[in-house]
Order: sequence, then structure tokens, then C-alpha cells
Amino acid sequence: PVHLATFFDSLLETMSKVAEKKSISLSAEVPEELFIEADEDKLRQIFLNLLSNAISYTHEGGNVKVRAINRQKKDGTETVVFTVTDTGIGIPRKDLPRIFERFYRVDKARSRSSGGTGLGLSIVKHLMDLHHGAISVESDLGIGSTFILELPLLQEYEI
Ligand code: ATP
Ligand code: MG
Repeated sequence: PVHLATFFDSLLETMSKVAEKKSISLSAEVPEELFIEADEDKLRQIFLNLLSNAISYTHEGGNVKVRAINRQKKDGTETVVFTVTDTGIGIPRKDLPRIFERFYRVDKARSRSSGGTGLGLSIVKHLMDLHHGAISVESDLGIGSTFILELPLLQEYEI
């Protein structure tokens, strides 16, 4: 199992240089006792993509925050709900349904300077599927975006 507080400490450390360059404050709020059964490398890839997007698409002086909470579903299964929230440029409503598609970028002008390929979120979606997880996004143009991820606390393995 992955100890989430340690995991995010190390992840934020990795991202801190890029964030500092833009004077973006980067923080995590994670319960100290929370563990999740997941592939740590894949988890890392998921959150590196989301955090690097959050930093790229947020202006100087903004905020990026990760939260994790333990949730008990009605059927008794336990999950972890993660949110990655930024105070960035936001995503137009009409683009929201498509941003998890391969090579989809909101518009070439706004993202040209960041030089991405439009693959990050499609990889995140794929890795979430591998963990039987779900991902969604809420966003207000000019105000910011929140990516919401839910993963089972324990994985069911197929033999
Ligand atoms: P890559 O990740 O391959 O370097 P990318 O960042 O453009 O390139 P994705 O990570 O798949 O590709 O994101 C798709 C598009 O969604 C981005 O081009 C950007 O327009 C939009 N987007 C993603 N995350 C955010 C965010 N946090 N705030 C605003 N827009 C975002
Ligand atoms: Mg990206």
C-alpha cells in the first residue's frame, strides 16, 4: 500500500521548482493515516500530469492544492477521493467533455506557449481506468479548475 501523506510530500517536492518559478503556492492536505492499495508509479504519473497542468495553466502568484479524503460508499466499499484545484485560466464549458481525449487541447493559441501534445489527460484517464477509478472535472473560465478523482481504497485483483 501507498502512504499518501509521504507520497504527496515527495511529489510536491518534485514539482516545487516549477511552481516556485511562477510564484505559485503548491500545497497538499492529506490525512496522516491514509493508505491506498495502488500502483505507486502509476499514481505518481497521474498526479504529476494533473499538477503540471495545474501549474502550466495558472498565472503567476496563483494557488494549486491537492486534497485526499477517505469516503465510505453506500454499498460499504471504501474509496479515496482526491481533488486537484487551481486558480488558473479555467476550461470553457464546451471543451470539458473532450479534454480526456488523446491530442485534444482547448485552443492552440492559449496553450502554444506550454508546448504540450494533448496526451497528458488521456494518459491520466487510462491509468484511472486501470485502477477501476473515476475522474471528472469542474471548471469556471478565468477562475480555476478542480479535477476530482475517486479510487477504490483496496483493489480487486483478477486471477
Ligand atoms: P501534455 O500534457 O501532453 O504536455 P497538454 O497539457 O496540452 O499537453 P492535457 O494534459 O491532455 O494536454 O490537457 C488537455 C488540455 O486541457 C490542455 O491543452 C488545456 O487546454 C486543458 N487543461 C488541462 N488541465 C487544465 C487546467 N488545470 N486548467 C486549464 N486548462 C487545462
Ligand atoms: Mg498536460
